[in-house]
Amino acid sequence: MSEYLAKDLLTLAPYVPGEQPKDGAFVKLNTNENPYFPSRYAVSLITDKAIDDLRLYSDPTCAALRGAIAAHYGVGEKNVAVGNGSDEILAFAFRAFAENGVCFPDVTYGFYKVFAALFGAAAEIVPLREDFTVDAAQYADKKKLVVIANPNAQTGIYLPLSAVETLAESNRGSVVLVDEAYVDFGGESAVKLIGKYDNLLIVQTFSKSRSLAGARVGFALADEKLIADLERVKYSFNPYNVNRLSAILAKAAMEDVSYFADSTEKIVRTRESFAAELKKLGFSAIPSSANFIMAKHEKIGGAALYEKLKTRGILVRHFGEERIRDYVRVSIGTPENMRVFCETAKEIIDGTKG
Ligand SMILES: *Cc1c(COP(=O)(O)O)cnc(C)c1O
Repeated sequence: MSEYLAKDLLTLAPYVPGEQPKDGAFVKLNTNENPYFPSRYAVSLITDKAIDDLRLYSDPTCAALRGAIAAHYGVGEKNVAVGNGSDEILAFAFRAFAENGVCFPDVTYGFYKVFAALFGAAAEIVPLREDFTVDAAQYADKKKLVVIANPNAQTGIYLPLSAVETLAESNRGSVVLVDEAYVDFGGESAVKLIGKYDNLLIVQTFSKSRSLAGARVGFALADEKLIADLERVKYSFNPYNVNRLSAILAKAAMEDVSYFADSTEKIVRTRESFAAELKKLGFSAIPSSANFIMAKHEKIGGAALYEKLKTRGILVRHFGEERIRDYVRVSIGTPENMRVFCETAKEIIDGTKG
């Protein structure tokens, strides 16, 4: 750190992304990326003309992309905002709506507490129940920004739509942000509720279910006024936030419904057979509606298992927080990836005493 850094950033603990190794030597199951090639239709649109157009700034309104998202979800274009990854949308939302603080679960996406610190919002941490489920009743009338990932990050547990509605209903005085990064793998989106609750902000991403993590595109679905608030922040920060090529890829990926259905179905099927395999190996896993599974084994701690897997060429994610440190989080890759994981995990466990 330099002597010039703003004082309030001295104690900020930045988000630590999962490792992105430079070589392809690892079976990479650590950052919940999609194992399948992006939509071929989308990729076919990256023509010489599209590249020539890079001379020009991108469309700050992202009209074409927002139109495709709006059509897909049956909402108006004014109900959609897009960002440079959903992380950027989350940042805009924290800047816009966390003036009176923010609350979120103890076990969830690690970025929420970083954004709270960056934007100077007081964070209230609400513990999940013993079984890692969200108790919606604990979030009533918070008078601050409420943030829930659904399915939840790090657990994969899906909170039923009726409970999401309870959150929106019981917090009429503040914004309820539902981060649906994983919803396509086993949940139902709350988007159908945005007409009923003007305080409900849905955030989704192209990174997980549409194989475009590296393109950096995320979006928000909400009442027009909430979207206008997000745009107010965007136009005060980076009006051209989605680059031309990513906008083309994302629009086409949203339109390529059959590709999307096929690849998400494969991942869900792989998750279910992987869960069954884990059980046979003696793991206990949190039931997941996402594209990852949190699993622990009584013979080995989470940190040790992470290290031993890494030595053997498999990258998973381990989190040091007390409630989940016995676990490793394993992203769902191809069936072959999961076969290699299971074989390697079995070797490690068989070689571990008691
Ligand atoms: C992956 C993830 C994001 C970030 O997605 P990007 O669109 O790639 O920025 C946001 N929220 C949760 C819960 C995630 O798991």
